[in-house]
Amino acid sequence: MKQPDTQKHSRTKIIATLGPASDSEEMMLDLINAGVDVFRLNFSHGSHAEHLARIEKIRKINKEHNCTISILQDLQGPKIRIGMVEGGQALLEEGKRIEISTRDQESTAQHITTIYKPLPKDVKPGDAILLDDGKLELRVISSDGEVVQAEVVYGGILKHKKGINLPNSTLSTPSLTEKDTEDLMFGLEHGVDWVALSFVRSAIDILLLKHLIKQKGKGTRVIAKLEKPEAISDENLDAIIEASDAIMVARGDLGVEIGIENVPIIQKKIVRKCGLLAKPVIIATQIMETMIDNPRPTRAEASDLANAVLDGADAVMLSGETAAGKYPLRVVQTMENVIRNAEGEDVIYEHNQDLKKENKDAGGIYDYKNDRNFTNNSVILSASRLATYIGAKAIVSMTSSGYTAFRLASHRPKTDIFVFTSNKSLLTQLNLLWGVRAFYYDKFVSTDQTFQDIQDILLEKGFVEKGDQIIQLASMPIEQKLRTNVIKLSQI
Ligand code: PEP
Repeated sequence: MKQPDTQKHSRTKIIATLGPASDSEEMMLDLINAGVDVFRLNFSHGSHAEHLARIEKIRKINKEHNCTISILQDLQGPKIRIGMVEGGQALLEEGKRIEISTRDQESTAQHITTIYKPLPKDVKPGDAILLDDGKLELRVISSDGEVVQAEVVYGGILKHKKGINLPNSTLSTPSLTEKDTEDLMFGLEHGVDWVALSFVRSAIDILLLKHLIKQKGKGTRVIAKLEKPEAISDENLDAIIEASDAIMVARGDLGVEIGIENVPIIQKKIVRKCGLLAKPVIIATQIMETMIDNPRPTRAEASDLANAVLDGADAVMLSGETAAGKYPLRVVQTMENVIRNAEGEDVIYEHNQDLKKENKDAGGIYDYKNDRNFTNNSVILSASRLATYIGAKAIVSMTSSGYTAFRLASHRPKTDIFVFTSNKSLLTQLNLLWGVRAFYYDKFVSTDQTFQDIQDILLEKGFVEKGDQIIQLASMPIEQKLRTNVIKLSQI
């Protein structure tokens, strides 16, 4: 078997959803070789047994090939769907009346059923009910709390289990459903690195998820999928970003819920906010949609991907393209090429996020006396600036919590970032972060010794050469594992 060379990957990370088209060990290795850094397990589909088999394969590859591929568990959240359709499909005709209920029967052209019990109580007259990613649209006329009367605004063919979106209605269901909690427990038991929650509405959804993770004694990090109008509202967006470890711009449902015309601008706004707060941001959905069936993407898809990279996305995510498409490997190869070209542009680098901007409450003045991260934030920012100034070959950091890696990545140094940690679970977790490569190191004899050991490792792995300048970050005293407080300029 080939040895995956993940060190050659682009700095923007690629997340690939596993599915029948991609879950053989051979294909997974090929995808890793082509540029995949994170595999996503989509818990809207598949059994626990299927997901477990995939987790075991990723672990086996990581072990046998000494790589750090990350596992992202994507929880379905309160996704509403219709049930089965009588005869497999029904034609909904424009202008016709239609009923919607939660009865235990198959859907027809006159009566649609869903297992989402609160639906008749959640909608009000005038609300839109969108079916199948918004391809079909109904308008609510009335509801007696049991059965909804609606009119077909845009008709078409409706098939089994298609999604329902209620962009104007306030859902009464919690964001973490019973199925999500069961899936989460399964994911935690099997040590996934990241867990993403769909249809997040407020920071409370994230705090609840984090509470459950903590109760299980795990350090799994949390991604908020932004796809509801409530989530991107002025009152909720900042708090959600603050509460989460990373953000996903889930453009599929987001486009249905807020209107596609709003997606491009909100995507840019979210990427900008995440950069300032050092929260990794993932751009998801329809990145290479046409490659599900075709060997080439459209020009528009290539441009969209390059623009996401230029805007400052940490990662881009493939869904159906790798899970069920005809060309999973070509998709990743194509993406890697587009990303690499975009990464040739200077605009991506040297963001060196101004610490003052984070603190708008203090009128743009860095209130360092009240910020317990003042020292490490300042040292990390200085490392990124110094790297540019001297043309350093690498910025190297020790980390036990991962914090330094998140901050360093947010500054987007052109210089390579290498992170060393004795925390094994961080090795795979950090693989989602822009430009970050993590390595295991567990000797803490002295700072001098550690700096020397790490230089030797980088030299041996071929990341640096004799004479190169590198910047090393650490904390002293080393055995106390405090926050980063030391910056050292070394010549190899
Ligand atoms: C999306 O809606 O864009 C998304 C990523 O969610 P999912 O693929 O889970 O529907």
